[in-house]
Amino acid sequence: MPVTHTLEGSLSVDVLGRQDPELAEILLGELERQSTTLQLIAAENFTSPAVLAALGSPLANKYAEGYPGARHHGGCELVDVAERVAVDRAQVLFGAEHANVQSHSGSSAVLAAYAALLRPGDTVLALGLPHGGHLTHGSPANFSGRWFDFIGYGVDPESGLIDYEQMRALARTHRPKAIVCGSISYPRHIDYAAFRDVADEVGAYLIADAAHPIGLVAGGAAPSPVPYADVVCATTHKVLRGPRGGMLLCGSELAERVDRAVFPFTQGGAQMHTIAAKAVAFGEAATPAFTAYAHQVVANARVLAQGLAAEGLAVTTGGTDTHLLTVDPAPLGVDGRTARGRLAAAGMVLDTCALPHPDVRGLRLGTAAVTTQGMGEAEIARIAVLFAAALRDESAGRGVREEVRDLTGRFPPYPG
Ligand SMILES: *Cc1c(COP(=O)(O)O)cnc(C)c1O
Repeated sequence: MPVTHTLEGSLSVDVLGRQDPELAEILLGELERQSTTLQLIAAENFTSPAVLAALGSPLANKYAEGYPGARHHGGCELVDVAERVAVDRAQVLFGAEHANVQSHSGSSAVLAAYAALLRPGDTVLALGLPHGGHLTHGSPANFSGRWFDFIGYGVDPESGLIDYEQMRALARTHRPKAIVCGSISYPRHIDYAAFRDVADEVGAYLIADAAHPIGLVAGGAAPSPVPYADVVCATTHKVLRGPRGGMLLCGSELAERVDRAVFPFTQGGAQMHTIAAKAVAFGEAATPAFTAYAHQVVANARVLAQGLAAEGLAVTTGGTDTHLLTVDPAPLGVDGRTARGRLAAAGMVLDTCALPHPDVRGLRLGTAAVTTQGMGEAEIARIAVLFAAALRDESAGRGVREEVRDLTGRFPPYPG
């Protein structure tokens, strides 16, 4: 009997349910988990149904090594158009001369940026990992730490702010080939002009790893690294609300080097379903609704920071300019790991993170996902109260869990 695939069918969990109930149950269970707990992981968000539709489309079947108009495979006429649309939209959205939308992830984008500009053994200056640097910024467990000589600058232990003077002094001493700015947990705007100034002084490339704030940049709620950095690396799935993936932005003079660093140097065939989904997300991010969203994300993060500070938690840098904040729960009598467990039991999902003080694990929270659900300042203020209640007293967890269920029920991520 011939098997016919309808487009509706390919997008429907019903089809999966009939064919493979074991996996369908996992998918539905995960949807239930995401819908009934609070997603406070700063790197997560809810993509739109249109983005999910592109991801679950037959573009997943297409092999497309190379770039539009220059592929190693036949049948690329339509996916070429999809990639051109994604590239054009990214260039317009971020005011960049060139965009590469093929990186499979944020880490792959960073790898490609290094491959475009550096040789193994080069010295690179980046935010140290204990201060909020990403694994790709020199972790010994990552290719970056193995293949390059990383020097770490830090944040001031008192203020939690990047120590720009220390960064300049280290640049003068070590003469790095590249300076990386960007972090997994820095809650404040980054002074890209200051980094550019130091890079120019020592003759280094400036790489901005804007994986976190790029969505705020798209919505005009954070300064753009594009005018300052030689190469900008980013993800598309954090505040930007697109599919899981990466991208690179640069000027025309580096375009060819960056493209070659992605394919064929570090990747194979492009994931055309993801690239189509990136195009959808860039289209959404260009709307006034997304601008309003990005500003609400920041307003919500500020309310969360104020609320948690009022409850006695120690908020790094005293607040936030962005979608994320980090806190030390120690004043409430719990360490970061215990805190994460208590909050999970109460239906609040988040990460532990390094804090500027050595050996202290804090908590990292973000408001991108709850803001997508439509929550505003009133709900966020309540979340701060519930958060502290669950931390202070383990037995309060059950009551908090019920209130979280009620709150998420009123703000479903995928209504209907
Ligand atoms: C999230 C992030 C990455 C990596 O993104 P993946 O898609 O998980 O590989 C890289 N750098 C920074 C600063 C990040 O926050």
